[in-house]
Amino acid sequence: MLTIIENATLLDTETMRLVGERAVTIEGDRIVAVDEAAPKGDGARLIDARGRFLLPGFIDAHVHHVITTMDFRRLATMHAAERAIGMAKLSEGMMQRGFTTVRDTGGDTQGLIGAIERGLCRGARIVPSGRALSQTAGHGDIIPREGLVCACQLHSNDFSHVADGADAVRLAARTELRAGSVFIKIMTSGGVASPTDPFDSLQYTPEEVKAATTETDHRNTYTTSHAYQPDAIRLAIENGVRCIEHGNLIDDAVASEMAELGVTMVPTLVTYKAMAEIGAKVGLPQVNVDKNSGVFEQGRASIEIAKRAGVELGFGTDLLGEAQAWQSQEFRIRAELEPAEDVLRSIYQTNVKLCRLEGEIGRVAPGMVADLVLSPINPLEKLADYDDPQRAIDCVVGRGEVMVDRIG
Ligand SMILES: [Zn+2]
Repeated sequence: MLTIIENATLLDTETMRLVGERAVTIEGDRIVAVDEAAPKGDGARLIDARGRFLLPGFIDAHVHHVITTMDFRRLATMHAAERAIGMAKLSEGMMQRGFTTVRDTGGDTQGLIGAIERGLCRGARIVPSGRALSQTAGHGDIIPREGLVCACQLHSNDFSHVADGADAVRLAARTELRAGSVFIKIMTSGGVASPTDPFDSLQYTPEEVKAATTETDHRNTYTTSHAYQPDAIRLAIENGVRCIEHGNLIDDAVASEMAELGVTMVPTLVTYKAMAEIGAKVGLPQVNVDKNSGVFEQGRASIEIAKRAGVELGFGTDLLGEAQAWQSQEFRIRAELEPAEDVLRSIYQTNVKLCRLEGEIGRVAPGMVADLVLSPINPLEKLADYDDPQRAIDCVVGRGEVMVDRIG
């Protein structure tokens, strides 16, 4: 059956211009035609988009499905069934906010991907890193100090592999690539939401980083690294890492080095705001609340530093559990720091490359996957107002299926 969205004003994401009234024909999971007048489609489902803007589905380049609550003590002992249902709910929520593709940067999502493919639940397309690679006492070592019992070189949980030494890193990277990971994520600095690593600590040696990047080079993909401060970013990019997650403490010197090497950065600003405002209330441990202080402001400042040096920016959120409802607020935070066209370029150009889905998503054109959002708000003029999905989203189409329809 055909679906035709008529009278829509399209956002051309290559030129970042609006294109007047168009009819978009969807068959199966693809856009098959974009015409000036609605074609005859007897029996087709018609959606009248008059007065509305049609955009490709949003793309979030940094999410986590396995962290279904910020109460890490509860998460550690949660029954597998409750965790799985929680993951499905997070996934469905993202789709309802218009995010039709998300890049999962840490966690085993293969079960969820299978469940969505088989129609057990509805959710965004997931581009997984699989479990993140961390050293012992690193950002992915989530075992509290007193509970540390394993002395082997590689132990795993749903979120990460704790792998020490180049051989163990190689094994962990190969294990994830075999499981279906599209890229690999490593941790070269401390983080906010982990128990035993100081925020400014440096993690992994050049040899360990190189072990991961060699594996991804061999598979024609890339390694991304969680890193905040300049020396952690340098450790990553000088050893073959092609993307930096967060980068809040970036300075001019390392930003120029990133631009020269063509390294992309994915800022994730809303998560620090959310942890500060609701973290303690929903059970985020005090140690993590303390680590989070000031990180949001530093992240806001990092945008200008990165852009001045010419670093290409993605668009991500990194929200944990309960806070994932804040996902759309990243639009306002970024739109207050940058022109709307730049933010939209991060979403529809840079994020597409990070997901390795060029020619599949990010444009409204024949042959592309039918991932679409209809909004009454002009994205070039009022992108900040996309922070409220109830107001900003009238309709969401995911892989050709109408997921949200408030037009009726
Ligand atoms: Zn993250």
